[in-house]
Amino acid sequence: IATVTPLGRSNQHGPLAALITIQDESQQHRLLEMRTDFIANASHELRTPLASVRGFIETLQGPARNDEAARERFLAIMADQAERMTRLIDDLLLLSRVEEKANLKPTGRVDLNDLMEDVVRSMAPFAQERSITISVEPLATPLVAMGDRDELFQVFHNLVENAVKYGRDGGTVKIALKKNASVRNESVGSRAFVSITDNGPGIAPEHLPRLTERFYRVSTEHSRRIGGTGLGLAIVKHVLNRHEGELSVQSVVGQGTTFDVVLPAYR
Ligand code: ADP
Repeated sequence: IATVTPLGRSNQHGPLAALITIQDESQQHRLLEMRTDFIANASHELRTPLASVRGFIETLQGPARNDEAARERFLAIMADQAERMTRLIDDLLLLSRVEEKANLKPTGRVDLNDLMEDVVRSMAPFAQERSITISVEPLATPLVAMGDRDELFQVFHNLVENAVKYGRDGGTVKIALKKNASVRNESVGSRAFVSITDNGPGIAPEHLPRLTERFYRVSTEHSRRIGGTGLGLAIVKHVLNRHEGELSVQSVVGQGTTFDVVLPAYR
């Protein structure tokens, strides 16, 4: 709820100026609230693995002091938890770096055929572990998006990683690229389309609008077991916003999920 700040002078600009202040203040209030929520959530997410590590340290210092087998087991769990904290901090830093640049429009040239090959190569060992096949249908012609290569790599890496991570063992991930050339004679208006489709368990409709919220995770037995930071799709959304791109998702429970990305492209 906004507070009305008196502007001191009541001339003909009075009501308009007051209105602008109300909007400003309510927006600031909302931003402040979002920031507070974010810090609370991030602290909670970090505190959970930390509490677990501290618990195991106490056990190893006390009751399990001379238990060789317990020591091995607990150390392995502690290493997992430390890794989880590292991933969280890496993702948080990445998100804040992208947010910092929110108002800078990236103008580099990124060949998406080439980029997708790199993404698939980076995911190949992980996909192989689960016997998942990743296939790419590249375009015969170059498909050049307007953007920052590292950030776009991160976008597609996160989407393909999710498709593998939440996909079923022995399943498939299909990546398709398309282009919609501008009718005008310059780059403005051309669009690149990339879709990533898996045949995994799918996502129930009520979760779809919330997937890009920070820390939002669909709480199924499967996703709890997999573990993640809940920041992957928030990063995707922020990078795409900065690129004036779009993300959409279609999913059928029991059949699979498709994430579609649209980016401004060079003609
Ligand atoms: P996480 O670190 O949990 O993977 P993301 O932000 O990348 O975080 O994804 C948010 C949630 O969306 C995941 O926890 C998962 O439940 C769901 N999700 C994302 N991609 C898929 C997919 N391809 N298939 C099924 N569920 C998915």
